[in-house]
Amino acid sequence: MECLFCKIITGEIPARILYEDDQVVAFHDVNPQAPVHFLVIPKRHIATLDDLADNDTTLAGHILLTAQRLAAQQGCSQGFRVVMNCNEHGGQTVSHIHMHVLGQRQMHWPPG
Ligand code: C5P
Repeated sequence: MECLFCKIITGEIPARILYEDDQVVAFHDVNPQAPVHFLVIPKRHIATLDDLADNDTTLAGHILLTAQRLAAQQGCSQGFRVVMNCNEHGGQTVSHIHMHVLGQRQMHWPPG
């Protein structure tokens, strides 16, 4: 198993875990781009958004609602941003889908 995030799920690589259930894990990003920056990932290895299938609808919704709930817990009452980078042009560097959640500062548009 070579996937970095699969190793975080199994505990082989340490991470500051925020939340875990049977489907997802959330942990603080090691290189935060905002005062709040965490990632929500599925426990099942899915490489990119392109690999999500029709029967992953419930899982995809669970990732989004986990992001929403944890953002509130992290004090993002004034708003937050979610980002999912997909493949090379999307800027994805880890091939295990992850939802970035960033908050506690003003975001700008467009992103780089
Ligand atoms: O969207 P992208 O694939 O570029 O994001 C990967 C994210 O995973 C980065 O924000 C990086 O800081 C984070 N990361 C992490 N812990 C690791 C390795 C990467 O939080 N051990």
